[in-house]
Amino acid sequence: MPEGDTIYRAAAALRTALVGRTVSKFEAQRLTGPAPRRGAAVERVESHGKHLEIVFDDGIILHTHMRMTGSWHLYHPGEKWRKRRHQARVIIETDEWVAVCFNAPVVETYREFDQTRHPRAGRLGPDLCNENADLHECAARLFHYDNPDATIGDAILDQRVMSGVGNVFRCEVLWACGIHPWAKVSNVPQSTCLDLVLTAATQLRANLNSPVRVTAPDVPGGLAVYGRNGQKCVRCGDVIRLTKMGEMARLLYWCPGCQVGCEPYPERDDSDPIARTIDPHPAGSQFVSDILRSRTAS
Ligand SMILES: [Zn+2]
Repeated sequence: MPEGDTIYRAAAALRTALVGRTVSKFEAQRLTGPAPRRGAAVERVESHGKHLEIVFDDGIILHTHMRMTGSWHLYHPGEKWRKRRHQARVIIETDEWVAVCFNAPVVETYREFDQTRHPRAGRLGPDLCNENADLHECAARLFHYDNPDATIGDAILDQRVMSGVGNVFRCEVLWACGIHPWAKVSNVPQSTCLDLVLTAATQLRANLNSPVRVTAPDVPGGLAVYGRNGQKCVRCGDVIRLTKMGEMARLLYWCPGCQVGCEPYPERDDSDPIARTIDPHPAGSQFVSDILRSRTAS
């Protein structure tokens, strides 16, 4: 029977193996709720008691509860599993690891901004995917944002301002408008707020019926910054960075060379370089190496 610390170590191991990785396959038997889209990346893995949550960058959260019987295993692709396949409730595959949840009685997903799960989220802003949405209303909500110290990068993700913008569009919209992600929302002029909203609406609507997101057709892959960390920005040639941002510590891709609009002064970057923030807890790597050692021994 798994105790909280087992789940904690499992979460640390899953974090080490999955965070920042693209999901090539997601399978879940008898899943309640929406599945993450193919190509989504894992943003966070968290445990609370026997609850384990995996957050994907498209806003889908996978919640598993282990009760007496459940467990998470990590395997390399092609490696033999220690339990039978029909016992697998969730399979998450990336290039390097396959994470399998066996026998968990509770497996469900929900959207990050689902109000029924997050009653504190408050009233949702106009839905940008709806062509009748009042975009000036969204711009006004952004301009008069209730926390003037919030960053623009966090504020445009706040579904009370406008609904529909997830992490991919956040990164792409900020780049398209040339805005520094850590700009204080109170320093962003009204015209820029409107520009951000119009850009977000245009990008979202252009992708409504497309399985592959394209916001920058001239860039190979179709996205200007998202997923392009370490590569050259097509606008200025600087190197695109990947950092964690905000309370939710979501992954942010941005270009320090040309996203200088409303740049905070003195320049302050609250970000943690991603290399340091991926699972600082040693239990994660210990757990992974224990698994590997026990398998070599057997
Ligand atoms: Zn640039």
